[in-house]
Amino acid sequence: MKQVLLIEDLEKAENKTLYFTFEDKIEGIDCVTPIHAQLCAKSLGDFIQITGKVSGTVELECDLCLDKFNQTLDFEIDELYSKTSLLGEYEESGQEFEIKDGQFVTDLNGEKEIDIYDLLYQSVILNIPNKKVCGINCKGRKFLSEKDTTDPRLDIFKDIQINPKNS
Ligand SMILES: [Zn+2]
Repeated sequence: MKQVLLIEDLEKAENKTLYFTFEDKIEGIDCVTPIHAQLCAKSLGDFIQITGKVSGTVELECDLCLDKFNQTLDFEIDELYSKTSLLGEYEESGQEFEIKDGQFVTDLNGEKEIDIYDLLYQSVILNIPNKKVCGINCKGRKFLSEKDTTDPRLDIFKDIQINPKNS
């Protein structure tokens, strides 16, 4: 189920702050448990800030042994959106750019809502480790070191049978 935050609702809320939770599987991610998020949105003049905690368990494929394994996620998000375009009206909305070290702003460019579902999708993807290894005892480590010693190009010679010539 898609979930969006209407900017109008946020502006009308007490202290221009809304708290909400998200509990759902996210399409495109192998969720073992629903992704759980507790979020807080605040309107800060020209900006909207969304902060909160995200947790859940996803299924990943090990880069070394190709086995599936579960990875628990537990991270915080801190996202800033600009209500007015900082890039100019001809730019596409939803672009993210850096305003200062490590602080990124997504340009809403006149959009009236923030796609929370997409925000969580992007955040989960970013928090999945680049190098996915199932564990310290991954059997792929052994497999890889064995593989290094034999040249797979030599495998074709295994199947060659030499037929004695009939004289
Ligand atoms: Zn592995």
